[in-house]
Parts: sequence; structure tokens; C-alpha cells
Amino acid sequence: MTTHTQQETTTDWEYNPAPETTKVFIESKNKLFIGGKFLSPKSRSWFASLNPATEEKLADIACAGKADVNFAVLAAKKALPKWSKLDGSVRAKYLYRIARRIQERSRELAILETMDGGKPIKESRDVDLPLVAQHFFYYAGWADKLAYAFPGRAVSPVGVCAQIIPWNFPLLMAAWKLAPALACGNTCILKPAETTSLTALRLAEIIQEVGLPEGVVNIVTGAGDTGRFLAEHNSVNKVAFTGSTEVGKLLMRSTAGTGKKLTLELGGKSANIIFADAAIDQAVEGIISGIYFNQGHVCCAGSRLFVEESILDEVVQKLTHRLRSLRVGDPLDKNTDLGAINSHSQLETIQQYVRAGVDEGAQLHEVHQERLPPKGYWCNPCFFTDVQPSHTIAREEIFGPVLSVMTFRTPQEAITRANNSPYGLAAGIWTDKGSKIFEIAKELDAGIIWCNTYNKFDAASPFGGFKESGFGREGGMQGLRPYVRLQHPQGRAS
Ligand code: NDP
Repeated sequence: MTTHTQQETTTDWEYNPAPETTKVFIESKNKLFIGGKFLSPKSRSWFASLNPATEEKLADIACAGKADVNFAVLAAKKALPKWSKLDGSVRAKYLYRIARRIQERSRELAILETMDGGKPIKESRDVDLPLVAQHFFYYAGWADKLAYAFPGRAVSPVGVCAQIIPWNFPLLMAAWKLAPALACGNTCILKPAETTSLTALRLAEIIQEVGLPEGVVNIVTGAGDTGRFLAEHNSVNKVAFTGSTEVGKLLMRSTAGTGKKLTLELGGKSANIIFADAAIDQAVEGIISGIYFNQGHVCCAGSRLFVEESILDEVVQKLTHRLRSLRVGDPLDKNTDLGAINSHSQLETIQQYVRAGVDEGAQLHEVHQERLPPKGYWCNPCFFTDVQPSHTIAREEIFGPVLSVMTFRTPQEAITRANNSPYGLAAGIWTDKGSKIFEIAKELDAGIIWCNTYNKFDAASPFGGFKESGFGREGGMQGLRPYVRLQHPQGRAS
């Protein structure tokens, strides 16, 4: 493994440990949340949730079987008529209460998110939790204004929604799914990912605390099969999924011809394009946040970096320098930049991709040589140069802190290479020319395009992809559309 360094620097800055000291209580057995109550699973099956930073067991989680899923769907179906007929302003009050209670319990939720998922506490605390609360506040604001979102149409809810979420932003994905669905008068069954169920169940406690009517939100924990049972249930009217393209395709097949509405937010291999006229230091910060934020477990990660050829050496040198200063380790330490990889299997996946990169001839830069903790799932952040478009690491989603650096000579080449992917989720453009930003942005096949920044999120801004990155939008006014049926003046429904 070769290390390319043009600028030798010492970055052995010592930081005193700054661990989060608040202790969060975790039940040893965590039950399903159905019909407003915490219930033991009819399946009698439980699985362990581990702390990926220590490999210690945090708790047992109920594994919902078919009968449990059935029970949850029936609870949601029973709750639907009353909830959907409530005045929007009343639904808004519940959402506001949830948002405020999330703010009040945000420290506890952030710590739990970090313990269960491995992400650094400064990200859970400063990114995930504020956005979670913001989503509930934002959609509370829409609940009594749906007529203005869809003027001239009669608006009604879709019905019972099955919402299946991944492990990279557990509570945030729950908020992205639940808040718009509830605002529009739907009832929900949420299925969190197997490795990160704890914060969703804490959200269930909040839902109880604010007195949300029983059955409006149900949470079924479990494995992939639990998600499958849920999506295939006859009484489900809509499936909303965030996760891998592979499972997204399965869901497309299983919902085809059933009349169920479907939205898919899938993987990505997003292009971050740096032009020679960009503010390079800022762009390097954008590269870092684009790929190393949340250990690279980000569907819109800027995992393909396209650098204008004339500035490649400068960018690689600055990236190397900046990478050295990142701190990898205890996710509960407030100074940590990269925490633990979410699971052993995801770590293996990432390691396989790194090996494929080396085997296929790309140049690995493992400049970050910090000693990793002896236990837990850890991956040093790294990047590759000499990457060809045909290389596996240039084509497939790695979902880890691994960046592929490539070059271009002309704006047209940047566009062609960026679009040369089955995915179309996000992109970044770095240049000091406003006109160039507009010219490039309109040619890119990407649902979200950041200009001179990266990985910025807001509840008011729609998020979603093209091509194999899925369809449908979450966030913003557009995020309401998948959760309503509209009646045209002529009586046509859509
Ligand atoms: P999955 O797509 O398998 O998981 C996402 C969610 O779907 C989880 O809740 C999972 O449950 C559930 N699920 C799994 N199988 C089914 C099924 N047949 N029907 C319905 N629901 C199902 O992602 P993985 O966790 O396996 O990650 C694999 C890869 O997917 C990653 O390496 C990454 O590349 C990509 N990914 C992309 C994400 C994104 O945001 N776009 C998020 C997560 C992963 P359970 O966890 O219990 O298996």
C-alpha cells in the first residue's frame, strides 16, 4: 500500500478525551409498538442489537413475524378513519408536540443513536437530531394547508403506509417518512433496520407521551423478512422505502399490479466536480464532508470525485493533509470525526471494495494511519487515484469512507463522466463562475445538486433521485405528494 504525500506535515495534535458522560437507560428487552402499546412479539423471537464501536450487546429487540406485522397493519387500518377525518389543524398539534418532545429529549436520542449506529456524537447531536425535529415542525405547518399545496384539487390521504428505513440515519429516516404521512392524514407502520431499532422505539415512547391516537403509528422491529411481510400485506396502500437498489427492485416487483403506491430512495454514486477556478480549500472541505461524513454511510455521498486535471496534484496534496487531521475512534467522544462502521457485514463489504480497487490497479492512499480501537468495526478513511471508469470502485456504491478520484479536461467531459452511472441521486459542483454552475447543473442526471457546498439538508428542500437511485421526493412541499390522493375537478383521481 503506497502513500502519496507531497507535503509532509505533522498533525499529531493531541486532544484530551471528551466523552459524552450522560448515561442513557436502555431496556434489556425492547418490544413492538402496536396500537399504542408495547407488546411482546407473537413470533416469540428476539435479536440482539450491538454497539458497533465496542461489539457489546446493548439490548434484545423483538423480531416481528407475519402475525405481528398483520396485527400492526390491522391497528393502522382501524385508526385510519378517525385520524384521516381529523381537522388538519388538530393533526398539526400532535406533530408540533412530537417535534417539541424530540427537542426536549434530543440529548438522550443523540447518545442512543450514536451508541446503536456508531456515528460520531457531534453528528447525531448537531445534524441528525435538529433535522429530525425540523421535519416534524415543517410538516406540522403543512397539515392544515394541504389545499394550498395542491390548489384546485380535493386532497385525501392514501391510507395505510408501510415505511421501511435503513441504518445510516435511523431517526432522521423515521422523521422523513412519518412526518409527511401523518400530516396528510395517513396511518403508518414503520420498520427500522435490524442494526438500529433503538431510537425508533424511543420515538414510540414520545408518540405515547404526546397522546397520538392508538394505531396511528406502529413500529415493527425485525429483519428483512419483517419488511417483506409488511410491504406485501394486502391492506397496505403505500410502501415508502429507503435502502439498497437491490431491495428496491424486489419491492417494485412485489408491489407491481397491486395498486399500492410506491416511493424508493435508493443508492447512489454521486459525482463531486471540482473546477480549477474553484476555491480549492473550501472544495477540499466539501470533499471531506461529501465522503467521510457519517463514515460514508450516506446514499448521496460524493464518492466519485472529478478534479480538473490541471489542479489534481494540488487537490490530492490538500486532501492528504486534511485527511490526516481527521480523528477516528470513540463515537461518543465529542472530538471524533469518524465513528464506527455500522456492522461487521458492512465493514466486510467496504474491505472487499478496497481490495477490488487495489487488485484492479488503482492507487490506494491510506494517509490516515491513526491506531484504531482494538474492538469494534473500524475503517480508516482513504481515497484512490488512478481510477478508471470501468473499475468496480468507480461504478458501485461502497457505502463507506472510500473515495475514488478521477480527472477531466473540459466541462463536457465532466458532465459525460458524472452521468456515466446507473445512479442519479446527487452531485456537487465547485467553481467561482455562477454561469458555469447553471450550465453544468442543468446537464447532470441528479436529483440533488449542491453548488460550492455538499451534504446540506433542510426539511423544506426536496430530496430524491433518478435512474437506479429511485423515484419520489421526500422533504419540502414535494414530499407531501406521495402521501395524498388528488381529485381533479373533472373527478379523475391520481
Ligand atoms: P437493505 O436495503 O437491505 O436495508 C434497508 C431496509 O430494508 C432495512 O430495514 C432492511 O431490514 C429492509 N429489508 C431488507 N430486505 C427486505 C425485503 N426483502 N423487503 C423489505 N424490506 C427489506 O440495505 P442493507 O442494510 O443490506 O445495506 C446493503 C447496501 O445497501 C449498503 O451497502 C448500501 O450500499 C446500500 N444502502 C443504501 C442506503 C440508502 O440510503 N440509499 C441505506 C442503506 C443501505 P434489515 O435491516 O432488518 O435487513
